[in-house]
Amino acid sequence: MCAGCGERTGAEDLVRLVIGPAAPFVAVDLGRKLGGRGVSVHPKRACVRSAAVRGGLAKALRGVAEVEPESVVRMIVAQLEQRVLGLLSAAGRKRSLALGGEAVRAALQGNDGDLLIRAKDSRGRGDELARAATALGCATVTWGTKASLGDAFTRSELGVLLVLDRGIARAVLDCLSHIEALSEDG
Ligand SMILES: [Zn+2]
Repeated sequence: MCAGCGERTGAEDLVRLVIGPAAPFVAVDLGRKLGGRGVSVHPKRACVRSAAVRGGLAKALRGVAEVEPESVVRMIVAQLEQRVLGLLSAAGRKRSLALGGEAVRAALQGNDGDLLIRAKDSRGRGDELARAATALGCATVTWGTKASLGDAFTRSELGVLLVLDRGIARAVLDCLSHIEALSEDG
């Protein structure tokens, strides 16, 4: 059951939050592996907010931490973003990651690619590569900026990257769709 809206739904639609004894007070338990007191919520801003105000999350946090709904939302988004970066570096270690326009183009020309990520501020070549990826049936998403993606890979800028591992691509997409839902109003 969602601790925010109260709707009964499958566990796969909910994100489990674990209340920690220390900071961060709310840990996102994506693999459902963490022990401890947890509550499950839809990864939606409205559900997290109401869970933090009056739902199970508020009860669990009482006496542990100041409950400010927006800061709980921000904490969850930050952890999901960390998780995406962790997944991308795992892909890099497996040599299942193409970084930058040239490497991405070469991989797509070899009919390889499970997820193309382009920076919000990438233009021209990013559009063209996203179209090529879509034509191959490869998922495409827009996330971060050239500077923030560059930071993650110790480059000054990175406009586009391609994940070449289906499992990692799916996990990244899950996190990004949660982030998007949490960033929407309502
Ligand atoms: Zn809900």
